[in-house]
Amino acid sequence: MTPVTGRTEQPLAGLEIEDLRVTFDGFAAVDGVGLRVGPGDLRFLIGPNGAGKTTLVDAVSGLAPATGSVRFGGRELLGRPVHRIVRLGIGRTFQTATVFENLSVLQNLDIAAGSRRRPHTLLRQRRGVPEEVEQALETIKLTAHRDRAAGSLAHGQKQWLEIGMLLVQNVRLLLLDEPVAGMSHEEREATGQLLRTVGEDRTVVVIEHDMDFMRSFATSVTVLHAGRVLSEGTVAEVRADPRVQEVYLGHAVGEEA
Ligand code: ADP
Ligand code: MG
Repeated sequence: MTPVTGRTEQPLAGLEIEDLRVTFDGFAAVDGVGLRVGPGDLRFLIGPNGAGKTTLVDAVSGLAPATGSVRFGGRELLGRPVHRIVRLGIGRTFQTATVFENLSVLQNLDIAAGSRRRPHTLLRQRRGVPEEVEQALETIKLTAHRDRAAGSLAHGQKQWLEIGMLLVQNVRLLLLDEPVAGMSHEEREATGQLLRTVGEDRTVVVIEHDMDFMRSFATSVTVLHAGRVLSEGTVAEVRADPRVQEVYLGHAVGEEA
């Protein structure tokens, strides 16, 4: 049976980035990046610290002023305010989870869902759990924990809740900044499966350092270095690229240091 991952009335769309530049006081953190992520792709974005990965995601989500072009489903995102970008179906997570710790799992999801619901719908549905919230709870495997305070969740569960908060907003492009950092092996595996599930009807970009995780779950990889694309391709292609091995301090990507 196909897992229920949320609302699917909108078609898959791809991300097309051209000549993207972000500068901080003359320093080019993102220095002319071109990148295409196909509709439904599960793309990993890797690279050393300071490569510009987070800044690139900031630019796509409207949080960093940038030049060039970022199109999703053919629509230009650059120049739009953050809330308009969100409304076009772009959702991102941060390196540290940003859930409301004192509210329950359900309340967190309800608030996130409410941001795209009309006030009368909020009132009408207050007694029951809205369908998209129910579905998200299933997908992120937190149904049994729905009444717990988000602050009491395990580290991994908080990250899944944050992803759930994007699912109920009907995101079509998920940008996840180091979602498995600090997770146990089991949590990583569960997160990888979650990304596969949500990636079935969405486009997903994952910033990640963990090479084992990348090998298991990436469908394609882009390597950033010093604000530029160093290499791109399948996991095997990128690992075999000598330039990539060089920036990873002479170790073949994925080999134990
Ligand atoms: P990554 O996520 O790949 O580790 P970042 O995108 O966070 O890298 O940072 C890329 C570069 O831009 C780094 O040199 C960082 O110090 C710099 N940088 C990031 N954000 C800012 C900022 N707000 N002001 C100045 N420099 C920044
Ligand atoms: Mg970063």
